[in-house]
Amino acid sequence: MPETEKKFQHLLRTVKQYNPKADLGLIELAFEFAKQAHQGQKRMTGEDYIIHPLATAQNLAELKLSTPIIMAGLLHDVPEDTSNTLEDIQKNFGDEVATLVEGITKLGSIKYRGIERYIENLRKMFIAMAKDLRVILIKFADRLHNLKTLYALPRDKQIRIASEVLEIYAPIANRLGMYEMKGKLEEEAFKYLYPKEYNWLKSLVEKQLKAKEKYLDKIIEFVKNELQEEGLGFLEVKGRVKQFYSLYIKLLEHDKDINRVYDFIAIRIIVEDIPTCYGVLGIIHKKMKPLKGRIKDYIAQPKPNGYTSLHTTVFTPDGEIIEVQIRTREMDEEAEFGIAAHWHYDEKGSFKPSKKTKWIEELTRWQKELTENQKYLESLKIDVFHDRIFVFTPKGDVIDLPKGATPVDFAYYVHSDIGTQCAGALINNHIASLDTALKSGDVIEIITEKNRKYPSQDWLKFVKTNQAKGKIKSALAKRSLLDKFLKK
Ligand code: MN
Repeated sequence: MPETEKKFQHLLRTVKQYNPKADLGLIELAFEFAKQAHQGQKRMTGEDYIIHPLATAQNLAELKLSTPIIMAGLLHDVPEDTSNTLEDIQKNFGDEVATLVEGITKLGSIKYRGIERYIENLRKMFIAMAKDLRVILIKFADRLHNLKTLYALPRDKQIRIASEVLEIYAPIANRLGMYEMKGKLEEEAFKYLYPKEYNWLKSLVEKQLKAKEKYLDKIIEFVKNELQEEGLGFLEVKGRVKQFYSLYIKLLEHDKDINRVYDFIAIRIIVEDIPTCYGVLGIIHKKMKPLKGRIKDYIAQPKPNGYTSLHTTVFTPDGEIIEVQIRTREMDEEAEFGIAAHWHYDEKGSFKPSKKTKWIEELTRWQKELTENQKYLESLKIDVFHDRIFVFTPKGDVIDLPKGATPVDFAYYVHSDIGTQCAGALINNHIASLDTALKSGDVIEIITEKNRKYPSQDWLKFVKTNQAKGKIKSALAKRSLLDKFLKK
């Protein structure tokens, strides 16, 4: 069987495993379409081009994502790199897949050109995310495969791509709670940016793991026995090794002494529910003395990206120091997949809608932090965020306006009729006057008065966008012409 076919069969098997009801025929059609479209094209590695969209789709399947996202992964480079258009995709695969592919194409390749373009890049990503977060998942999957084949590119390109991954993609993955993705992206980028350090760390970790392997098994057994003795049920107890790049950063803070990084290896206890988490914490502390100041209750106080768990660091019976993490199955899944879990299918193939769509909230908070961090931005002499704000429609669409823009500017941006009929505004569900200066992250709802035919002259005193100014002026000019005519 040719290599491509093997990889495609592997993709189908992966999808089938987490989503037995998936329409594999549709995925096959998308694959055949992409294969045809990229016919004859080669990657820098010398492989057939189709290997890349296939690997992208495989990365998406590892995130257990839904069929349209897998299809969009297969088709993501078609409009940009082949003679087939977005319209062809739309005709063959429908609106949903086409919209996703369009999002990826629009996002384009973000070119890392140093810190001066950093904010601009973030902004582009931010807007794409606000429109449809699934686009970012595809972008991550795409980038992850590009990193894996980075060896085939010249050194300057390697550095550019790896830098933007470390400075833009990985922080976004972290923000979205996608720890696995963040770890994979960072490790690959790290390899190219700091090859010497990477190799040093790699051999250190291997040595350390070998030394700790037996001891880790022993402590896992110990914990299991103690829990069973106390009659506390658990689902799983496992070891976990700290992510590569995070470990490196931690080592830099501790004179590169791995014995001072207490969470290099941790044990993770997965339990049924939250009360059991606290029960298990109690048992752990009863059996093993905790280190002062290292008990963290991320269940009561989740991390900004939504991460929840209990962490503690304890002395084992052998006098070693180890971190213990306690969480439910749900928390474990959230920590691994983050926001991607919102498009998950479970093993029975039924779609698992998110309990709460927190992402607008999350992006809003992030946006606010960036905006509030004015000093940092000023020091970089970047004015992208200084003179622009991002606000949301009630449906979650993001609208980019100049600083100082008001609900009237917003209304005209949405539609000129809404501008003209604008009678009031709700900002974050609170009534606000029409001249209020909007802030990044605000959610704006316009109250209209359907019978109203003309805007108010007063609005010209406070609107900021040329679009609103122009429309108000021309409407008023029309009215005065009409008035003159009626008076005659
Ligand atoms: Mn690509």
